[in-house]
Amino acid sequence: MDEFHLYIDGAFVPGAATFPSLDPATGEPWALMPEARAPQVNAAVEAAHRAFHGPWSRLTASQRGKLLFKLADLVQAAAPRLAQLETRDTGKIIRETSAQIAYVADYYRYYAGLADKIEGAHLPIDKPDMEVWTRREPLGVVAAIVPWNSQLFLSAVKLGPALAAGCTVVVKASEDGPAPLLEFAKLIHEAGFPPGVVNILTGFGPDCGHILTTHPKVAHIAFTGGPGTARAVVRNSAENLASTSLELGGKSPFIVFEDADLDSAANAQVSGIFAATGQSCVAGSRLIIQASAKDAFLAKLKAKAEAIRIASPQEMTTEVGPLCTQRQRDHIEALIEASVTAGATLITGGAPLPGPGFYFPPTILDCSTAPDAPAIKDEFFGPVLSVVSFDTEEEALAIANDTAYGLASGVFTASLTRAHRMIRGIRAGVVWVNTYRAVSPIAPFGGHGLSGHGREGGLAAALDYTTTKTVWLRT
Ligand code: NAD
Repeated sequence: MDEFHLYIDGAFVPGAATFPSLDPATGEPWALMPEARAPQVNAAVEAAHRAFHGPWSRLTASQRGKLLFKLADLVQAAAPRLAQLETRDTGKIIRETSAQIAYVADYYRYYAGLADKIEGAHLPIDKPDMEVWTRREPLGVVAAIVPWNSQLFLSAVKLGPALAAGCTVVVKASEDGPAPLLEFAKLIHEAGFPPGVVNILTGFGPDCGHILTTHPKVAHIAFTGGPGTARAVVRNSAENLASTSLELGGKSPFIVFEDADLDSAANAQVSGIFAATGQSCVAGSRLIIQASAKDAFLAKLKAKAEAIRIASPQEMTTEVGPLCTQRQRDHIEALIEASVTAGATLITGGAPLPGPGFYFPPTILDCSTAPDAPAIKDEFFGPVLSVVSFDTEEEALAIANDTAYGLASGVFTASLTRAHRMIRGIRAGVVWVNTYRAVSPIAPFGGHGLSGHGREGGLAAALDYTTTKTVWLRT
């Protein structure tokens, strides 16, 4: 079986124990992963702390940027290997993992270019004998914790800005599917980052994650995952009053008006919910459709959903692969059952596929007659679309905002003025109009409420890894 290592203080080391990683396409173990426990976590944080006060702080911002540019090139060169590993370990289809690695390199490049543009300001204080200015200084050691979907991408949106700002980082890969991040450590090494600047661990949440987030030398916790875990992380951060940024789940509204281009909206809806087998925080999981267009739109969706090719994630023509874990499959099945019991109607899909692996077909649930069904409120994090209908624009907005989450949203309409009203009214961190799922390193991303706080992407994300020092100099 393939074996992986932790990356601590510039060295590849074993964990305290190993645990098997399952191939989601077969349900069989394929590799042994190293488990970080207290000694490994403490060693990683200490190394990051030494590097922060040592070699990393002696580099200029443009030298940090050059290392990030080199890392971006290495990511690009290693893309096929990284994509293959991510597909193997998480079941995410090869077409998607290959495409996403290109974004990962783009994010590192963007933050490489930003490293020497993080500036303080001169302040025109009303005192003739005083010079006053601000310096943007790095926060210190950052704990970056990611879930199992898109680990390379979700770590890049933390590592890029944190390293550009001058922080050092301990990354905790998820215990589910950590292979691509453990492999990525080799690129950090090859790029020539000083030992301890980036450390990569994996292990279990209540042990490795808990120790990392309560460590007194961690200044900031950048967390992506579920809201329940986020609460534990915030409680842990209280120990040392570390700051937190939280990128959590969603129940994103996908609103289609009768005047929209229904074919284009249907294509966006299908990829909006079924890409990554629905295991995406921005999944457009609540279709809010104008009643007059409902039958025509659902007919298109049903036909498209049933034509999707479900097969091995390693094949380039596969459109939906397995879920990452059996646990995830059980969760989805239970939520569908509870929703059907509450009165929702299955339009297609609804039950796991027989055979090996954690496959679940694209599923559409009409909840128009079951407004309190769990499928309307709770995140599936799987290939399940819940449908409700509306008559008026006000109703559409009220349904869209009737959620504890507030991450992404989509509006499909031919009316520019209506689009503007919806943009103003929707409570979400992202509004996509007549498109869905577009991302760029330049554009901030994040949510409200149970979707978390803080933003990733853009200049602001790099500034979030800094603190402001104000200097008063009597002349
Ligand atoms: P999760 O919350 O179970 O785990 C996330 C990470 O937290 C893992 O690395 C886990 O080991 C760690 N963890 C668990 N307990 C911990 C503890 N007590 N202390 C510290 N760390 C701990 O999430 P998951 O089920 O792996 O991922 C799915 C969730 O992630 C969904 O809710 C999804 O919407 C969300 N997500 C959000 C975004 C975003 O950018 N907003 C992106 C992807 C996924």
